[in-house]
Amino acid sequence: MKVDFYTSKREYDQKKEEFDKAIQKIIEKGNFILGEEVREFEKAIEEYTGAKHAIGVASGTDALVIAADILGFKDGKEIITSPFTFLASASCITKHGGKPVFVDIDEETFGIDVNKIEEKINENTVGILPIHLFDQMPDMDKIMDVAEKHNLKVLEDAAEAFGMRWKGNGEEYKHSGAIGDFGVFSFFPTKTLGGYGDGGMIITNNDELANLAKCYRVHGASKKYHYDFIGYNSRLDTLQASILSVKLKYIDDAIKRRKEIAELYMEKLKDCKNVRLPIAKGDQKQVYYVFNILAEDRDGLAEYLKKNEIGYSIYYPIPLHLQESFKYLGYKKGDFPVAERICGEILALPIYPEITNEEIEYVCDTIINFYKNK
Ligand SMILES: *Cc1c(COP(=O)(O)O)cnc(C)c1O
Repeated sequence: MKVDFYTSKREYDQKKEEFDKAIQKIIEKGNFILGEEVREFEKAIEEYTGAKHAIGVASGTDALVIAADILGFKDGKEIITSPFTFLASASCITKHGGKPVFVDIDEETFGIDVNKIEEKINENTVGILPIHLFDQMPDMDKIMDVAEKHNLKVLEDAAEAFGMRWKGNGEEYKHSGAIGDFGVFSFFPTKTLGGYGDGGMIITNNDELANLAKCYRVHGASKKYHYDFIGYNSRLDTLQASILSVKLKYIDDAIKRRKEIAELYMEKLKDCKNVRLPIAKGDQKQVYYVFNILAEDRDGLAEYLKKNEIGYSIYYPIPLHLQESFKYLGYKKGDFPVAERICGEILALPIYPEITNEEIEYVCDTIINFYKNK
């Protein structure tokens, strides 16, 4: 049996008519740049997340770069973040000369170790950039307390966390990205809410920051051809907004199905002593964006999965402090032992709403077989 790590085809086949209609409508109208469908989608995101403002941009990476620029994460200022994440979480800081200051991760959740943030703060520190990685958020109460105490800005990288909620099971829950000064989402196709191409969103509860973000995405123009800042050309495509609006209607069902899949993995692999299953910490609603295991002989297992035509992914094989591009920051091997160890053990298994239980069972049996035959 061949199991794709991810495919958009099954969802498209199931809802072909709806997607085709959404796409065709935009092509017929020809309102490709910031058409009314973009504003409609932004409004739907405001409603879903509870954020006062949502501003559609061209990608999650652009959302981070624009937000970091506006918050002053630049010009030699220091911003505390995690080395175990996608490049864009830190490159948005270095893009304008800011300095990412890394803190090791919590070995159970893979998120920033919130107890190690405060010791890195000095007079040059201006912000914290927490990442809601894979399946859960770091302790946002603690992060917001530290930020308030030291007068720091908070930019939440919620690229992977659409639908994720802090205090998710209580009435007072907050949606990921809607807690700090800015939060960003990515609509990269594989994400929980993914488009048919690149797309991203900035959210905020602050009117002034929202206005700046709206200017910055159109070259810094407050009015057409009146440039108050040097901004960007970074807009969410009307076509993508229209496609994403279709997907948003089904997002709660999609997350529910992801949860079922994660539970099936947990059940099937619970007796396999060679893998460590995900651990969730804190009161939050997860979205099961990625199902990660920590595996003994990870590279051997990866090879075996490949041989058996099972898709997998490794997020991330190298922590950011050891990347060539960040060499100039002066970090070395051994600086963040937890992140470095996890990079050698982590492996992501296929998880998307359209995958079948039969396929999951096949993936689990293959993993169990690998260790049995070793
Ligand atoms: C996907 C992702 C991004 C970047 O999003 P793009 O839309 O691909 O630019 C940023 N941060 C994290 C943690 C991500 O997973």
